[in-house]
Amino acid sequence: MSTQLELDTGATTTLLVPEGTVTRDALPNLADYDLIVGNLSGGKDSWLMQSLLMNAAREAGVEDRVWTFHATLGPMEWPGVTYEGQYYPSVSELAAQQSLASGVPAERHIEATKMTLGDNPQPYDLLTYIAAYGRFPRLGTRFCTKGFKEQVEEAAFTPVINDLKVSLGLASKPTAIKLTRPVRRLKSLGLRSDESRDRAKRPAYQNPMVNGVRHLDEWCPAKDWKTHEVWEHHETTGFPWHWTYDSHPGAKDRRGTSRCSCSECVLASRRDNLLGAARRPRLAQLIAHVETVRGDTFRPDISMHQLIALSRKPGAPDPGVVITDETPEFEAMERSVMDALSLPPRKEPDLAARHRTVLPLLTTDSCNGCA
Ligand code: SF4
Repeated sequence: MSTQLELDTGATTTLLVPEGTVTRDALPNLADYDLIVGNLSGGKDSWLMQSLLMNAAREAGVEDRVWTFHATLGPMEWPGVTYEGQYYPSVSELAAQQSLASGVPAERHIEATKMTLGDNPQPYDLLTYIAAYGRFPRLGTRFCTKGFKEQVEEAAFTPVINDLKVSLGLASKPTAIKLTRPVRRLKSLGLRSDESRDRAKRPAYQNPMVNGVRHLDEWCPAKDWKTHEVWEHHETTGFPWHWTYDSHPGAKDRRGTSRCSCSECVLASRRDNLLGAARRPRLAQLIAHVETVRGDTFRPDISMHQLIALSRKPGAPDPGVVITDETPEFEAMERSVMDALSLPPRKEPDLAARHRTVLPLLTTDSCNGCA
């Protein structure tokens, strides 16, 4: 028998009771969870999601169980920038500010990134991974989201979950794998129905994973909010949005990029990619170098070489600001990308160059794992 949880009626989402969730109702009762995590990308939907999540947590009297999380992509994300004497925060900084402004204390905000394995782990950036692997992520093989966001979050919350095992009396020691019941975690995401058909079909509340130690449910509290309402929420609350949404930092005109996560995303709109290439020319050149060496293109329908050329033509979007990327973090990424390119790819280039289908474009400010 079908256990479909919700039906999209076109206007709003009709909710049914999902299968396997902790709360046996159409929407979560936050008091049922041991740990509640707002996933913050630093984008506009994150601020709305976090506001709704905290309202629900306060109503349920469990505000103290709320944590926030940002998986940072380091120098691949939109950085902070000083423009006309004023500093505008990076995506990571804004995510931390969203957390604090919503009422979550700084010690319950976790920012984490993918690390190398071994005795002396170091930050492992996405472009180095791509250079070593030999191909760029695609819609069907979005290893960037999986490996650099979802897995990073699971690892980041392991110590928190281990502490909860003991403090909740579910086990006698943090390393226990036999518990009286799993630790119940609710992950809150900023995904909305009007971003794409896939997101409209996605249940607002669902259970993606359960084992003996972890019960993970997901909730999208902003699912039925329209884009104009998201902006209205920003205006009403007075909380600033990231500068990349604007034609230049401080413009507050929302004529910049439509999304806010990686400066160059393989799923972004053409305009966002062109703005990324013009605003961060050094990053675009590095991506183009990876293309040249590995023989795969940044996107199946257009290369970074082509995007750079188009971004310089008359009629291309005005970047408004150009970032030099002369930072130790960027230079470290550049070195590690070059090191990775000096070795054979893990995936053969001719294999990587196959399957050139046109990708559906996201119109959102977050990929699934970036919400
Ligand atoms: S923003 Fe795009 S490139 Fe970056 S992790 Fe998300 S899907 Fe991947």
